Amino acid sequence: MAKLTDPITILKGVGPTKAKQFAQLNIHTLQDLICHFPRGYEDRTRLLTISQLEVDKPACFKAMVMNHPRTNHIRKGLDITKVQVADHTARLTLTFFNNKYALEQLQYGREYIFYGAVSGDFIGYNMTNPVFEALDSAPVTTRRILPIYPLTAGLSNAAMGKAVRQALSICDPPEEILPEAIRKQYGILPAQRAYFAIHEPATMAEAEMARKRLIFEEFFVFSAGLSLMRSARSGKTAPPYRNRDLRPLLAALPFALTGAQNRAIAEILEDLGKGVPMNRLVQGDVGSGKTMVAAAAAYCAVNNQKQAALMVPTEILAEQHFHSLSRLLTPLGLRLGLLTGSMKDKEKKEVRAALADGQIDFAIGTHALLSDATVFHDLGLVIADEQHRFGVAQRSRLSAKGSDPHLLVMSATPIPRTLALIMYGDLDVSVLDELPPGRQQVDTFLVNESYRARINAFIRKQVAEGHQCFVVCPAVEENEELNIKSAQLWAETLQTAVFPDLRVALIHGQMKGSEKEGIMASFARGEADILVATTVIEVGVDVPNATLMVIEDADRFGLSQLHQLRGRVGRGSAKSYCILTSHNRSGDTLQRLKAFCQTTDGFRIAEEDLKMRGPGDFFGSRQSGLPVFRVADLSMDLQTLKDAQTASARWIDAEGSSDSPEARALRSRIGTLFQRAEGTMN
Ligand code: ADP
Ligand code: MG
Repeated sequence: MAKLTDPITILKGVGPTKAKQFAQLNIHTLQDLICHFPRGYEDRTRLLTISQLEVDKPACFKAMVMNHPRTNHIRKGLDITKVQVADHTARLTLTFFNNKYALEQLQYGREYIFYGAVSGDFIGYNMTNPVFEALDSAPVTTRRILPIYPLTAGLSNAAMGKAVRQALSICDPPEEILPEAIRKQYGILPAQRAYFAIHEPATMAEAEMARKRLIFEEFFVFSAGLSLMRSARSGKTAPPYRNRDLRPLLAALPFALTGAQNRAIAEILEDLGKGVPMNRLVQGDVGSGKTMVAAAAAYCAVNNQKQAALMVPTEILAEQHFHSLSRLLTPLGLRLGLLTGSMKDKEKKEVRAALADGQIDFAIGTHALLSDATVFHDLGLVIADEQHRFGVAQRSRLSAKGSDPHLLVMSATPIPRTLALIMYGDLDVSVLDELPPGRQQVDTFLVNESYRARINAFIRKQVAEGHQCFVVCPAVEENEELNIKSAQLWAETLQTAVFPDLRVALIHGQMKGSEKEGIMASFARGEADILVATTVIEVGVDVPNATLMVIEDADRFGLSQLHQLRGRVGRGSAKSYCILTSHNRSGDTLQRLKAFCQTTDGFRIAEEDLKMRGPGDFFGSRQSGLPVFRVADLSMDLQTLKDAQTASARWIDAEGSSDSPEARALRSRIGTLFQRAEGTMN
């Protein structure tokens, strides 16, 4: 027997070239291969007679070859082979294009199993390029449920399937980590069976059972990890903050807080007074005023002789927050400090010295706050902004800089509450479901290609009025197959062919972090009129002068993502617009996009996304601070997530620290899952 950790090159037919292709999909070991799950299936188990075949519905049938296949050479690169087949019900003509194999294999007078769809025309029924197998061959492409795998260039579905089957035949799948009692209670397949069944299901129902088991397992591990973190904190104490008077701060604000802000702040103040470390997530749509909530928490910490730290994902955000919060808090006697990676060494040293001896009360910065060189005098509160950009472990690294400080994380991604409880199971959640009054609505329109000239004219008009525009494309580079706009090419087209007299800039995710920051900062200073971008601009910098967001091929994005993008405009006093383009004609897609044009409520949009696309999207690559879920690509249902969470919480309570083999296996799996999360950040 081989081991799960063995490299895939021990498989027959996998040499260095194939191994490189597998590596493209992050498949290096047998375990990776066995955990490379199909994204769907083709049910080829139905065996019909020829007369039962229905137009455009592929199925299997058994038939005899009634003549010698004949090939016509039409022109260079086009050979057409025709052959007659029949069963006791009917005859059928099969047509193969450039298929020497069919010509060589199909023998007059012998029976085969075919799989294909008939098409009807005047002359009668016809079938093009069916797959076929001899009656005595093992079922591979017919008479079974065919798994369809995520693939990469050069790697066929057949090659992938073959490699997976081989791997399963020479090594045991990953060990069982779900206790039997739990499997019984939730009707969950044992690990062994699930790993075989996901790749080679006997029925579609079995495939579904396997999928459910693997989703359950993944969430069980994830939730168990969160529960462990929670219980590790449960014995901890923090000095209760006695001074929770915010009146001076509120008096200094140029506006009244919204009801939602007041509620969130009240929840936070209560946490801070309890004597145990706070662990709270503040979830609020873009523009809902999360910074004020953070400021209130920091203000309270400092008034209780503690330091506070606010960590944000980019340098420009850090600077923006530093300046706006300094304006508010410095007059109230707080000493603020900024710490980012690109500051001069001398400046960093000074800030760090001030943090270490308590000369700075409230530090705002990037990852630089995490480095070993940063030491706090007495850190009482840690705030992480745009939570999904930070890994679970990063949060805990910042926490480790104080003795059990309070933790506040802020996320701008509205997530349905049910899902938030699952994703952030170790946190309490406050929701800012209200925008400050007088906020401008961003008018949103859905158009098709025939509006191109009008879109261009509109961009020109915005720029002529002194404003700036974002143009977002779904891809970085050109991709002929997908026929979608790429940021690179579109930026070039706009600059050379459409707006030669305007300043067009480009930003995308394949650029280095510092390069991206440079471009964003320059756009924020007004040094370009149009910024062509990928979704990298989703989170981040305020450009109040940007009044137009054009999203190309909008059907390529999830609704929540569109919502984040739209939130980049409408931040200043001028009227703002969002234009979605799409040449998709599917009624569902258009309806979804039209509904999006009519609502600006992020939570409703998120609920809609959850209904339409399932929770998988929220766990996808965009949420990069969370562990990467392998099964998340397959759609998953909320109930399974909830069951897994309930089961894991109960199990951790009872056996979390036990020394049984299952508990140990589970703890090691938790370690791997959260490590993988760290690896995917930034
Ligand atoms: P986000 O939740 O996206 O982080 P911000 O905290 O950046 O939102 O707030 C967006 C803008 O709204 C800021 O200019 C802020 O000063 C303003 N703001 C925050 N709260 C209120 C309020 N209660 N009334 C009016 N304006 C507010
Ligand atoms: Mg913010």
